Amino acid sequence: MNTTIIIGAGASGLLCGHELAKTGENVIILEQSNKSGRKILASGNGRCNLSNTDLQMKYYNTDDWRIAAIINNFDAKKYFEKIGVLVRQNGKLLYPRSNQSLTVKNALMNNYNNVALIENCEALKITKQGKGYIVTTTLGDYYGDNIVIATGSPASLLSGKNNYDLVKQLGLKITKLYPSLVQLKTKPAYRSLKGVRVKCIAHLYVDKQLIESQEGEVLFSENGLSGICIMQLSRLLPHYQGIKEISLDLMPDYGQKELADLLQKRRQDFNDYYLAGIFNDKLAKVLENVANLKDWRFLIKDTYGIEKAQVISGGVSLEEVNENLEVNKYPNIYLTGELLDVDGDCGGYNLHFAFASGYHVAKTIINGKEGLDATNK
Ligand SMILES: Cc1cc2nc3c(=O)[nH]c(=O)nc-3n(C[C@H](O)[C@H](O)[C@H](O)COP(=O)(O)OP(=O)(O)OC[C@H]3O[C@@H](n4cnc5c(N)ncnc54)[C@H](O)[C@@H]3O)c2cc1C
Repeated sequence: MNTTIIIGAGASGLLCGHELAKTGENVIILEQSNKSGRKILASGNGRCNLSNTDLQMKYYNTDDWRIAAIINNFDAKKYFEKIGVLVRQNGKLLYPRSNQSLTVKNALMNNYNNVALIENCEALKITKQGKGYIVTTTLGDYYGDNIVIATGSPASLLSGKNNYDLVKQLGLKITKLYPSLVQLKTKPAYRSLKGVRVKCIAHLYVDKQLIESQEGEVLFSENGLSGICIMQLSRLLPHYQGIKEISLDLMPDYGQKELADLLQKRRQDFNDYYLAGIFNDKLAKVLENVANLKDWRFLIKDTYGIEKAQVISGGVSLEEVNENLEVNKYPNIYLTGELLDVDGDCGGYNLHFAFASGYHVAKTIINGKEGLDATNK
């Protein structure tokens, strides 16, 4: 019987292992940390936004047809319900009904009887041997007929920071890496507003040109701005040169003139309290010195970097793999998840790709490379 070694017990590696285990394949999962599925646990603020019902490719950084097929052939709701996780929908976002990321991780690790999961075991090197490969690790050597590299990215450092070492040793091309879905450092920044949230529209301007707008919640942080709509806008930053600004429209449901009239009347009626009845009290205090509540400008100084990013944009170039995510130069070595140059918006898109790619590779290994039917729909 063949042995598959999966390097990395994260979202894509665990799901790949789960699928292979069901068929009785020999599976060894090597995990460098002492905590498998750490990013699954951290995802969605501990609630795990595991997928989205709207999987158009415009929400990803690629329109590669092979990636589109993998993403669209995987029905996350159906898959997780089949393995015991009831899924609830919040708008287009999918979560476990338990509202707990742990439910997802536990379901993936259920029935791992024929899987050897070895934690605190960092894979250091892969060398060809016969038809398969030897994986050299901090705990010794392991032989696998198939190797799945599922080492993720250094985003937020929850999956370590040497995620690309193995693929670099194999000589695979890695595209430029950027922190994506990340908080911004801005000028001004308001320490007093740390933790305050406001519903608004955030606009991204580069050299005074409007680039994109996002409606939602902005969260103030010590040195700048965060929240889902700011993280979404952060995805665009690497693609533009120039002076970058965020403008917050705090009263999007009011026109400029309507707002001026409202504020004038409130000043007459409530004196110094005219803003306090509209906004969080700390925010109201700051806003007394802001000239235009529909265009509150923040210069973007920087992002919070890879350490605070939810994902990394960039990774192993898709030129290096075929439609089975098998490395062109190394038959039977497969790549999954965020390690690849595939990243998506906030909203479950990154976990969806991790799960879908783990599923696709497992099906490829199980069914062989010919006549592959890797859909669970
Ligand atoms: C705070 C946070 C919140 C997030 N929330 C969401 C969300 O709600 N929805 C969403 O879609 N996405 C979310 N994401 C992104 C999502 O979690 C990742 O895109 C996804 O986990 C990537 O899966 P993966 O399998 O590629 O890698 P990972 O899940 O990162 O797994 C990689 C594993 O490989 C291990 N590893 C690395 N190198 C080695 C080695 N040499 N040897 C052995 N093991 C190794 C790591 O320790 C890790 O366990 C979030 C990310 C963060 C940081």
